[in-house]
Amino acid sequence: MQDKFFDCDILILGGGCTGLNFALAYAKSNLNLSLTILEARENYEHDRNWSFWIESNDNFQHRDIIRKTWNSWRFSTSEESWSHISKKYEYVTIASRDFYDKAIQTIKNDKRQTLILGCAVHTISGNTIQTEKGIYNAKIVIDTRNNKNIKFEADASFYQVFYGYEVKTKSTFFDDTQVGLMTEMKNIKNSFSFLYVLPFSKTDGLIEYTVFTKDLIKPDDLRKELNHSIKKLIGDTNYDIKHIEQAVLPMGPLKMDQKKSSSTYIYAGTQAGALRESSGYGFLNIYNWAISAVINLEKGKDISIYKNRSSMSQYLDRHFIKTLRISPSSSKKIFVTLTKKIQADDFVRFMSETNRLIDLIKIIIAVPKLPFLKALFKNE
Ligand SMILES: Cc1cc2nc3c(=O)[nH]c(=O)nc-3n(C[C@H](O)[C@H](O)[C@H](O)COP(=O)(O)OP(=O)(O)OC[C@H]3O[C@@H](n4cnc5c(N)ncnc54)[C@H](O)[C@@H]3O)c2cc1C
Repeated sequence: MQDKFFDCDILILGGGCTGLNFALAYAKSNLNLSLTILEARENYEHDRNWSFWIESNDNFQHRDIIRKTWNSWRFSTSEESWSHISKKYEYVTIASRDFYDKAIQTIKNDKRQTLILGCAVHTISGNTIQTEKGIYNAKIVIDTRNNKNIKFEADASFYQVFYGYEVKTKSTFFDDTQVGLMTEMKNIKNSFSFLYVLPFSKTDGLIEYTVFTKDLIKPDDLRKELNHSIKKLIGDTNYDIKHIEQAVLPMGPLKMDQKKSSSTYIYAGTQAGALRESSGYGFLNIYNWAISAVINLEKGKDISIYKNRSSMSQYLDRHFIKTLRISPSSSKKIFVTLTKKIQADDFVRFMSETNRLIDLIKIIIAVPKLPFLKALFKNE
């Protein structure tokens, strides 16, 4: 069979968080360019919940699909529990199914945009893309694929691995006024673990067993621990599992070859460093990038690559991860001290993309100094 050929102005490889955020930002523009998204999946299924902090009065464009907001988050160890409450910031969750539905509907209503499902990209030569559905040629390509060949799992120096269940309990269980951000924190072997609890209602919530580790493990390896923790919390049979959420997210700098974007071939999303190195949070960074990329196009400029964090802030992120890697047995103490000493709003800015020197200084003052000094003098 002969290959079919297609031309478009902008071609996005991968219709996940980055590709669809770009489509949603593009839909609000007056640009007269054709935009095609090639997505390998045959259809979208709910596969994750994106959570992050925004200011309560922020002009956030996905407020219509926020699943739940909280202004309080809790930390705990087996010995004690403490909370942060903020008037300025809220922790919000977007369910991926709502985000995918919104994007699909928006693309359908926009004559300039086309989403092609079940269309895996095979080979790339310049801006010519070979797929099983034909050959695409575009003036601008935005590559957001979480390409399995780019094994950040093997190329990162530290990982966040989690395995969780979204559950429906048979009787009231969750306190839905407060997120369990890092509960049951403990040091385990060469790693640090905690339970992340997102209560959507008194009977619905996501419970994730999370590990920060330098050893690459499979999320599935954490299933036993998760089951054990849930049994302790809810009991054996008092819940139904609605959805399993799992991932390995890279932390610290990626060791893989950094892909070089040009003005007509842009790498974006996780593979382009969109995730915060010290936390794995990425949604807000991706959302902000998509908006600024479209604004740049409107101004006739090149689509920008990710804004680098300030070098001070990036240095601290990397030093933070190096410290956890070198002194895993200090992890619990570091997180306990940090989350107790830092005020709620300062903590949010630290977890978000703050570049404010004063926030960074407060973090340096708050953390226990010895493990950080040890990491400073350790060459790797
Ligand atoms: C389970 C999970 C939970 C997360 N939770 C949070 C959170 O709470 N808060 C937060 O800020 N961040 C979170 N993240 C991190 C980050 O925000 C997400 O990973 C985000 O989806 C990254 O966006 P992306 O566009 O890089 O990748 P994706 O959203 O994964 O999109 C990549 C797309 O490329 C497609 N693709 C791959 N190969 C091809 C190919 N050859 N051809 C065509 N298409 C292809 C994939 O099917 C996919 O749709 C989470 C990540 C995961 C995995």
